[in-house]
Amino acid sequence: MKIKVKDNNYFIDIVYKNDEGLINYLDENHESKFLVITDENVLNIYEKRIESFMKGRDYFIYSFPAGENSKSIENYIKINEFLSKMNFNRGDKIIAFGGGVVGDISGFVASTYLRGIGFISVPTTLLSMIDSSVGGKNGVNFLSLKNQIGSFYFPEYVHIDYSFLKTLDKRNINNGMAEIFKYSVLKDESLFKYLRDSDNLNYEKIISTSLNIKLSFVKDDEKDKGKRQKLNLGHTLGHGIESLSNYSLNHGESIGIGTIYMARASYKLGISEKDYSKDLINAFNKYELPTHYDFDTDEILKVLKHDKKIKANMINEIFPVRIGEVISKRITFDELRKVIELGKDDE
Ligand code: NAD
Ligand code: ZN
Repeated sequence: MKIKVKDNNYFIDIVYKNDEGLINYLDENHESKFLVITDENVLNIYEKRIESFMKGRDYFIYSFPAGENSKSIENYIKINEFLSKMNFNRGDKIIAFGGGVVGDISGFVASTYLRGIGFISVPTTLLSMIDSSVGGKNGVNFLSLKNQIGSFYFPEYVHIDYSFLKTLDKRNINNGMAEIFKYSVLKDESLFKYLRDSDNLNYEKIISTSLNIKLSFVKDDEKDKGKRQKLNLGHTLGHGIESLSNYSLNHGESIGIGTIYMARASYKLGISEKDYSKDLINAFNKYELPTHYDFDTDEILKVLKHDKKIKANMINEIFPVRIGEVISKRITFDELRKVIELGKDDE
């Protein structure tokens, strides 16, 4: 399957165990030198595969330890040093081969090296396939703040081969699944029912549906000033939970809980007619996603003070109206406290 992203002039291939689209793309750019950036886990599993589609080309592989800690400014500098030493120039390209960590730092390097060189994304986790590989956000963490330094920069081509998911562990699959649930709450009730009821997921279908939802929110709002913000459903609270748990809960798990709490708050505020948190909890149980986290509201508000989305003590929060529809409300930091309190379960 092919998705054309007209506004940003690139296309996405969604395939199963098939390098053809990628190889064609690389062939069309046969004059370029390539740097394949990956992490050590992924390299261990897929080195032969990388070698097979890069065969006969001018390329290097650059790998770093797997994990969020590698999304650092130090690592960013090291990759830039490598590119400079190997005389990469404007016509050369970076290929990000890995999950969101690899994608975020690779995209950021690509966006600033020589003021921008070509960038190809080959996501290998479910989360990166349905979220980080499109939308153009890149970056690194800085002073223990997530994505504190970064850029908006789009890939030239995205190659999604969901056969890579065969080697991905269940927890990382479910990490992506939580974001897919988020998309369903934003816009697509049938996607929600499908995730809830199906015993044999069709990944091509859920990846393409997710990407189309994400792209529809990114369209006309690349820099995150208006409707794109709806993609942040569950994310204010989710980021707070992720941080309070010292990252023992991963991103998907945290924003999943955030989404449940926002659905509960919506019901108590009369924004939704039904308490959809119950439907979400039922569906999440199937994917072994956590549905509850104990925290102190003051503690989480301390963390949330650093949220990039807060401007002049106001924040746009996204509230579910039902599964498939949300509204955005501008609220004060004090109102956010109330929303968080209402979102907690009563048990
Ligand atoms: P990740 O990149 O750390 O990958 C998770 C783990 O899976 C790693 O250990 C990795 O080595 C391993 N792995 C990757 N592919 C594999 C495969 N096919 N088989 C076996 N193991 C594999 O994590 P992630 O969840 O993909 O991404 C998280 C990052 O993405 C965070 O830094 C987050 O901030 C970022 N993100 C960015 C955006 C965006 O729009 N730019 C959106 C969402 C998340
Ligand atoms: Zn997210």
